[in-house]
Amino acid sequence: MHTLTLHRLDLGSEAAVEDCLIGLDPHETLLTATDLSATRGDGIFETVVVVDGIPQALDAHLDRFERSAAMLDLPAPRRDLWQHAVTVSAGAIRAHTARGAVKFVMSRGDEAGSGAPTGWALGFAPHSRPDGSAPSIDVVLLDRGYRHDVAETSPWLLQGAKTLSYAVNMAALREAHRRGAQDVVFTSIDGYVLEGPNSTVIARIEGVYTTVPTELGVLPGTTQGDAFAALEGWGAPVETRLLSVDELRTADAIWLCSSTRGAAPVRSLDGEPWSVDSLVTVRLNDALDARKA
Ligand code: PLP
Repeated sequence: MHTLTLHRLDLGSEAAVEDCLIGLDPHETLLTATDLSATRGDGIFETVVVVDGIPQALDAHLDRFERSAAMLDLPAPRRDLWQHAVTVSAGAIRAHTARGAVKFVMSRGDEAGSGAPTGWALGFAPHSRPDGSAPSIDVVLLDRGYRHDVAETSPWLLQGAKTLSYAVNMAALREAHRRGAQDVVFTSIDGYVLEGPNSTVIARIEGVYTTVPTELGVLPGTTQGDAFAALEGWGAPVETRLLSVDELRTADAIWLCSSTRGAAPVRSLDGEPWSVDSLVTVRLNDALDARKA
């Protein structure tokens, strides 16, 4: 990651949005050692891809940010302020790169401080997909250890919130590397497809582009949402439903979708070669890059 811009948001103030955004040197120290994001991973975040200065799917990211805040009992984000922060960061990183990203974060705050949340927006150039192509990936299935109805039975586990506690997601990716793959599809202990550690699954089964519902405790994927909009625009059938692992194995093409990577085609699943639909992959990623909002 190459950091380009950094802004701190004054979340304790009700001043005009312009006055609540403080530009910093991107390498400047931002957090205290007692900030709950650092000591507990207690907070939420979003990463928006920026193409030619346009933050893509920003409304969907802000919706998800608000949803995560509610799930964690954090104060409701001031939407105009976060929107302003991302737009300013996106405009500033355009001078450095045609394809960048903005990560925006709200921490529960400093446990020795005022009680106000801490917020910042970091503009950066991601390593993944620097040239607009989405490389194909080897994927393994890993058990997440929960039943498919965990979000309903145990909401305190925060499945489906985009929290700062990603140590488990990163551990799953390291396990994938140990198994000779680059990515993961999590499954429930009762045999359903969930999501990747940082992506949403789309599987094409008997011609229908299929993803799984957020009721399973997975994130509503902004990239998957826009990929489905593009597919529907071309007249392709799409569906959101429970998908068993056995059914996934009948898919003739699978993609993992995320903001910084786009739609990455799966070329092997648990070591078994998988067919890649290069034509649809290129069309999907072109459609994602062409988004104007
Ligand atoms: N699921 C998880 C757990 C994620 O962390 C992410 C993104 O980082 C996604 C899905 C995909 O979301 P999006 O397409 O909005 O980037």
